[in-house]
Amino acid sequence: MQPTFPKPFSYETFPATGLVAYFSMEIAINPVMPTYSGGLGILAGDTMRSAADLGVPLVAFTLVHRKGYFQQHLDGNGVQSESVQPWDPSDFCTEVPARVTVSVEDRIVTVRAWRYDLVGRYGHVVPIYLLDTDVDGNSGWDRGLTDHLYGGDTNYRLQQEIVLGMGGVRMANALGHHVNVYHMNEGHAALLTLALIERELGGGPLGTPTEADLSLVRQKCVFTTHTPVPAGHDRFSTEQTIRILGGDRTAQLEKLGCYRDGMLNMTLLALKFSRYANGVAMQHAKVSRGMFPEFAIHSITNGVHAPTWVSEPIQQMLDEHIPTWRRDNLYLRNAIDLPEKEILAAHARSKEDLLAEVEFRTGLALDPKVLTLGFARRVATYKRSTLLFTDPERLLEIATAAGGMQIIYAGKAHPQDEPGKALIHKVVEDGARFSNSLLRIVYLENYGWDLGALMTAGVDVWLNTPRRPYEASGTSGMKAALNGVPSLSILDGWWIEGCIEGFTGWAIEDGADDAAEANSLYKKLETAVVPLYLQAPENWARLMRTTLAFNGSYFNTNRMVKQYTRNAYYPVKLIEKAKVQEEAFAD
Ligand SMILES: *Cc1c(COP(=O)(O)O)cnc(C)c1O
Repeated sequence: MQPTFPKPFSYETFPATGLVAYFSMEIAINPVMPTYSGGLGILAGDTMRSAADLGVPLVAFTLVHRKGYFQQHLDGNGVQSESVQPWDPSDFCTEVPARVTVSVEDRIVTVRAWRYDLVGRYGHVVPIYLLDTDVDGNSGWDRGLTDHLYGGDTNYRLQQEIVLGMGGVRMANALGHHVNVYHMNEGHAALLTLALIERELGGGPLGTPTEADLSLVRQKCVFTTHTPVPAGHDRFSTEQTIRILGGDRTAQLEKLGCYRDGMLNMTLLALKFSRYANGVAMQHAKVSRGMFPEFAIHSITNGVHAPTWVSEPIQQMLDEHIPTWRRDNLYLRNAIDLPEKEILAAHARSKEDLLAEVEFRTGLALDPKVLTLGFARRVATYKRSTLLFTDPERLLEIATAAGGMQIIYAGKAHPQDEPGKALIHKVVEDGARFSNSLLRIVYLENYGWDLGALMTAGVDVWLNTPRRPYEASGTSGMKAALNGVPSLSILDGWWIEGCIEGFTGWAIEDGADDAAEANSLYKKLETAVVPLYLQAPENWARLMRTTLAFNGSYFNTNRMVKQYTRNAYYPVKLIEKAKVQEEAFAD
């Protein structure tokens, strides 16, 4: 008989040390609310889901994004066009009565909030507040400030960041939340520190904060950076900050050393006012320390919310063999002992589901027996979606040797990213040109949550080809691993930690240039991936098993949120200081 466990009331005794407020420009709350664009938002959502499962006392703030990110349309040649995704927050959320204001340029903008209750596995609720400036009395322009995720220009972005950071802090106050820890998920939220400093000064405009004021703010803030290259950091010109934030604030922030190269640097601002900062993988923390050597930047490697990303067939298998896997993802290590036949059968069902979706969308019937690679992510040039096409003849030879190969692509390019759009066009064109009866290449439209889940579970190998060191972490390969799907990837981001050659997938070796890395990619396909796929299926099943056991048990937000609570929110020294009350685990 399986033992039963008491229902965990909360992850240990955190209420004694207080509430965390989590700030993120995007949060993927559920598949039908278009409040996210990609990796950052999915990570934020998975973090909230695990915090709710673990009973961490946490509330979150984001923007409502009434027009969403965008819906992607691809014509026959792979030319992308976009349309808005309008949605009605009242279909999913409850409006709270509180109103706060922020000043933007010379205007006072009223902010309201929609509350979404995210309920964890044991009933703990994480409220997510979606800030909204579409309020009577605001100007037409201001009413649109919370419409478009990553839309508009840098002026629009800075105004949105005022709403998120400063509006969010004031909304938390107005709602009566006594916040002990403010977590900035990426630099977009850094202006919350400005609101906290002003609050220390009595709520007025920024006078002259003392070292004690600043230290009080610093004691409350935690920051996660996500960007491994200087150009990726959010920055605003002095002219913009004077105009939008105001001259006094600009002068103060300059005095506090938050400008770099004449620009307000949001990463720098967040780092200056955080008692704890971290990158999202070991390598990324190193790279971040290189960019900001004056700060101690720790690392907490990203994860994904396992029950969200494990396919139904794999869930059924895990429920049978490892019934504790949902409450504690560490038990996934026991996947090492799963019966080979069952993991093959579960994967075959996931693959069928994906191929059915491909056929539904494109009319193309792919072969479930054929080796299938998946490549899906935000399309940016550094991700090199066309690396696989460097030598089409060699690719065709590989497909022939494998008895056929299928490659499924998906991904959106930001509407203003012309080189990214050109890449999609090229993948679609090359894909059509190189496809034949042995090599089939499809590009699926409108990559999002549902398609991401189908693809990471349903392909045989997950491919990732970023240029080092641009991939801070990457999380889609983690979703694949939780479904037993190995990765074939450049050693960047999480894969440096996750790659055990031949057991969780394969590394594409570093080369001097794209051609050298393409060569390594082909070589791994020729000498490792294809030969193993052609062997007895049990051998592939053992690879799937080790992938799930080693990487599924670690690269999840269950582990990640515990690390945040232990190392960032409530380090032991803070817990000792607080009067910790023993809470009985209620059944
Ligand atoms: C997981 C996910 C991402 C992030 O994946 P990366 O590997 O970081 O590129 C982006 N978009 C969607 C829809 C996802 O599900």
